[in-house]
Amino acid sequence: MHTFVRPSTFTLADVDRKLNAAKLSLPKAQQLTPPDSSSEGGSSPSEADYFPEFPSEEVRPLDQCIAIFEKGPRPASASLALLNDEEVIQLADAGKIAAYALEKLLGMDALERAVRIRRALISRASSTQTLESSAIPHESYDYSRVLGACCENVVGYIPIPLGVAGPLKVDGVSYPIPMATAEGTLVASTSRGCKALNAGGGVTTVLTADGMTRGPAIDFPSLVQAGQAKAWIESEEGYSALRTAFESTSRFAKLKSLKTALAGRTLYIRFTTATGDAMGMNMISKGTEKALDALQKRFPGMVILALSGNYCTDKKPAAINWIEGRGKSVVAEAVVPGHVVKNVLKTTVQDLCNLNIKKNLIGSAMAGSIGGFNAHAANILTAIFLATGQDPAQNVESSMCMTLMEPTNDGEDLLISVNMPCIEVGTVGGGTVLGPQQGVLDMLGVRGAHPTQPGKNAQTLARIIASAVMAGELSLMSALAAGHLIRAHMAHNRSQVNTPAPSAPVTPGPQSNTVPAQLARSNSGRSPFSPLTPLTPSMSQLSLSKLRR
Ligand code: ADP
Repeated sequence: MHTFVRPSTFTLADVDRKLNAAKLSLPKAQQLTPPDSSSEGGSSPSEADYFPEFPSEEVRPLDQCIAIFEKGPRPASASLALLNDEEVIQLADAGKIAAYALEKLLGMDALERAVRIRRALISRASSTQTLESSAIPHESYDYSRVLGACCENVVGYIPIPLGVAGPLKVDGVSYPIPMATAEGTLVASTSRGCKALNAGGGVTTVLTADGMTRGPAIDFPSLVQAGQAKAWIESEEGYSALRTAFESTSRFAKLKSLKTALAGRTLYIRFTTATGDAMGMNMISKGTEKALDALQKRFPGMVILALSGNYCTDKKPAAINWIEGRGKSVVAEAVVPGHVVKNVLKTTVQDLCNLNIKKNLIGSAMAGSIGGFNAHAANILTAIFLATGQDPAQNVESSMCMTLMEPTNDGEDLLISVNMPCIEVGTVGGGTVLGPQQGVLDMLGVRGAHPTQPGKNAQTLARIIASAVMAGELSLMSALAAGHLIRAHMAHNRSQVNTPAPSAPVTPGPQSNTVPAQLARSNSGRSPFSPLTPLTPSMSQLSLSKLRR
C-alpha cells in the first residue's frame, strides 16, 4: 500500500504529479482523463483507484479546494475524489455544489459519501445539529437502487423491526407473514389468528377484480361539448380509439373500462387497467396521458386540468373505490372449528358473531364509515406493505375491509370472511426494487415479474394480505370477546375477598350506594355481559389494551 505524506502546502502541481504517478501504476482501462479534457462522460474510477490513502483529513483553504474542483481532472467526480469530506462541505457551503446534486457530482462509486456529506450539511445548518451524529443509520445501504427511483436528498434510512407471523395456509400453500411494525403484540396476535385459521384447513381466496385506476379532470368550453365528449367516450368508436392509444404505452397496460361523470363543464374519466405485476400508477398515468392526446384530437377545445382529478381515487378515502374496487379485489373465507374458537381463541362462536355485528357492522354504520367495517385491517395490511416495499400511503383505500362472521355447521363452527376491494400492491417497481424488500418478496416467492403469467405475483401477494388481515381480525375480535368474558367472570364469579381493588378508583356516581347495575342485571337473570362491568386488571386485559381498536 502506498503512503503519501502530505506537504504542508499542497498545490495543483502536486495533484498533477500524483495523478501522473497513479496513472503509471494503473491499468490502461482505469487511467484518468487528463485535467484539461473536456470529456464529461464515461465511468469514473473510485477514489481508492487514484490514491489509496488520499485525501487526508487536513482541510485546505477554500480557494485551493475550488481550484481543484474547477480545474482538476474531469469528470467532476475525479476532482472531488481529491478532496476530503470537509473540503467538499466547504465547497457546498460556498455555493459551488448543491446538496441535492451530490450523488450526480460525486459519481456512482461514491453514493454513500454523498449521503454522509449531505447529513453533515443538513445537520450543521439545522438548529439542533443532531443529524450528523444521530442514530439514523446511513452505512451499508445500496443507494444505487434509491437514486432516481425511490427518494431524493437522502440522509440515511429508517429501520423498522421485521417480524414474521404464521405460517398461514392460503389456498393450500403455507406462507410466513412478514410484518414491519413497531406496534408490540401485533405480530403475536396475528400469529394466533393464523394458528386458528390453519386448524380449520386455512384460508380460501377469490380474486374478483384486478384493475388500477386514474381519473383525470378535463374542462370543456361548453356543457354541450362536454356532453358530446362523454357520449363519444362511451361509444364503441371512442372507447376503441382511447384504448388503442392507452395500450400503446406498455405491453402490460390493458384497458378494462372507462367510467365517466360530468360536473358542470368538467368531465371526469376513470380509466381502469390491468397493470401486470406492477402496482401500476406510473403505467396507468402514461397510458392515460396518451389516451387524452387522442381525445384532444377529437375535441381540440378541451383543457386537461390534471391527470388526476381525484376521481381515481388515490390515497384518499372515497366511496367509488369501496363500490367499484381499485387494485386487487379479494374475498377470503375460512371455517374455524368450534373447539379451536374455544381452546385457541378463548371465546365462543356466538360471542364472536355477536361482537362482529355490533362492532364491525353496526358500530361502523353508526359512525358513517365507508369501507371501515373491520377491527384493524389497516394494522396488518400496513405492516405487510412496509415489509414488501408497497406504497404505504395507499393503505388509505387498501385497508378498506368488511369482516363478516356467522355460525356454520349447526352453529358449531365459525364462518369468517374478509372482503377487501382495493388491495393496491405490486411486485415490480416502486419500493419493491430495494434489496431488503426484495428479500421479503423472495421469502413469499413473489418477487418481480411472474415468469409466465404477468400479474400473478402481485395477485398472490394481495391474496396473502387479505388472508393475513383475516388472521388479525379473528385474533383481535376474539381478544375483545374473551376480554368481555373475563370481565364478566371477574365481576360475578370471583370471591370478593380475593379480588384486588381496581387500580383506578371507580368514578362515584349518584347511585353509588345502590346495587351496581351489572349485578342487578345478573341477579335478575339477564345478560351479565354488560359494558358497565368494572375493569379489574388482569394479564389478558393488559395485553388487550394495546390492541384495542
Ligand atoms: P408502477 O407503474 O407501479 O409505478 P413502475 O412504472 O415503477 O411501476 O414499474 C413498472 C415497470 O416494470 C414497467 O415499465 C413495466 O414495463 C415493467 N415490468 C416488467 N415486468 C412487468 C410485469 N410482469 N408487470 C408489470 N410491469 C412489468
